Amino acid sequence: MRIGLFGGSFNPLHLGHLRAAEEDREQLGLDLMYFIPAASPPHKSGDDLAPADHRLEMVRLGTKGNRYFMVSEAEARRSGPSYTIDTIRHFHAATRVQSEFYLIMGGDQFAELETWKEAGEITRLNHLAVHTRPTAGAAAGPDPRTLAALNRFGYSLKEAYYVNSSGHTLTFVATTFFPVSATLIRRKIAAHQSIRYLVPGDIADYIERHALYRAGR
Ligand code: ATP
Repeated sequence: MRIGLFGGSFNPLHLGHLRAAEEDREQLGLDLMYFIPAASPPHKSGDDLAPADHRLEMVRLGTKGNRYFMVSEAEARRSGPSYTIDTIRHFHAATRVQSEFYLIMGGDQFAELETWKEAGEITRLNHLAVHTRPTAGAAAGPDPRTLAALNRFGYSLKEAYYVNSSGHTLTFVATTFFPVSATLIRRKIAAHQSIRYLVPGDIADYIERHALYRAGR
């Protein structure tokens, strides 16, 4: 089985996350894609972070109806900072079927991967898939920050992907990019503006029903 692990604060889940995950799944030939909301994301300040139970429920609402999409409580239920290396180890230990794991992330996250706990080990235990904006015209190649990360983690180019000494790959997946972020959604709510069609309808209803993000930034 090929299993995607897509972590994030999902504060809240939006259509940019969903569309990128769908295209990652399709292009990588994944059998399952796990969305893994973090309880306490190490790289984010928590002042406008909705409680993990609300974020989990919104991810459930947004992914239901897609038979490839699964929701994991692994990080939401773990106390302390939500380190990705712990999540990867959890999936390796808990998955009975012989599986290959693909850690899914955006280009910005890959460029700052060295700041993550046990980053080198992360690249040795599973494949990485980095979704990027498709570049118009000829292939522009990785930007300098991305190139630096590729060198730091010992990846070298092999056909359409990169590979490191553990044999694990890194693939850049060009996805349709929706210029939406959870920050934008929280700001709109705080400014009493509509968020319809930026998030699935069920999530917009849930946010309204529970009065989430009203005092946000
Ligand atoms: P925030 O605005 O609160 O920082 P965010 O919208 O960037 O949040 P996260 O939950 O922090 O979302 O991100 C989870 C993952 O989703 C990250 O890998 C991030 O790169 C990716 N991601 C975020 N927004 C988009 C988008 N519009 N299209 C594709 N991927 C995205």
